[in-house]
Amino acid sequence: MIGGLFAKVFQRVPSLLYRVSLMMKPQVVFVLGGPGAGKGTQCSKIVESFNYTHLSAGDLLRAERAREGSESGQLISNYIKEGKIVPVEITINLLKKAMEETMQEDEKKFCFLIDGFPRNKDNLEGWKKVMEDKADVKFVLFFDCDDEVCIDRCLERGKSSGRSDDNRESLEKRIQTYLQSTRPIIDLYEESGKVRTIDASRCVDEVFADVKAVLDKEG
Ligand code: ADP
Ligand code: AMP
Repeated sequence: MIGGLFAKVFQRVPSLLYRVSLMMKPQVVFVLGGPGAGKGTQCSKIVESFNYTHLSAGDLLRAERAREGSESGQLISNYIKEGKIVPVEITINLLKKAMEETMQEDEKKFCFLIDGFPRNKDNLEGWKKVMEDKADVKFVLFFDCDDEVCIDRCLERGKSSGRSDDNRESLEKRIQTYLQSTRPIIDLYEESGKVRTIDASRCVDEVFADVKAVLDKEG
């Protein structure tokens, strides 16, 4: 009788574990758009109202660049200054580590806004190789904004950001990288109906009203 009870419980353990692991599978929204489109600004507002953790690929790379003893610091620095896309092995490991640490600290934090990723084919392939079976990509939030507006915003930000790439020379390269490498990735997701496009050329609150509507509907 007791043996039978144990057998029943043990039979249920794997399926329970499976269900818990599914419940906690990271849920990801990729956030894309040109440099200065307002990705970081909107992500901060989302975090205030929804249970999302904001991970910016650019911020993670800048933090790694600044980390004492980092083997990739100099390489990251050169890529950022040139507006080029850092090799995916570096970026994906930083993202994976940040996601794991967030979930270890608080198991209820399994929804992520991944801002500035995937920025090119290499990023996308890296994600598929390392993360596809570990996380669900819900959709892509695309902040659509004219290049000139993006450049003006970054130049304005450059007055106080201290960023090595918020200057006209770097920005022209960043816009080229965006048009040549990132737009095709957005188009790819568009083909599978996964893109939610927001007109990001308007003021912060108007943009956020649309963002909120998307998240209220899709979680
Ligand atoms: P990204 O993360 O896409 O590079 P940011 O969120 O850092 O862009 O925004 C770039 C700059 O533009 C910042 O100085 C920010 O304050 C400003 N900004 C962001 N969204 C808007 C907006 N809707 N209208 C005007 N300025 C904005
Ligand atoms: P951002 O903070 O998003 O404007 O990114 C600043 C710079 O960081 C970019 O111009 C790239 O050099 C680098 N970077 C940001 N995201 C990525 C990424 N997903 N893959 C590689 N490099 C990136």
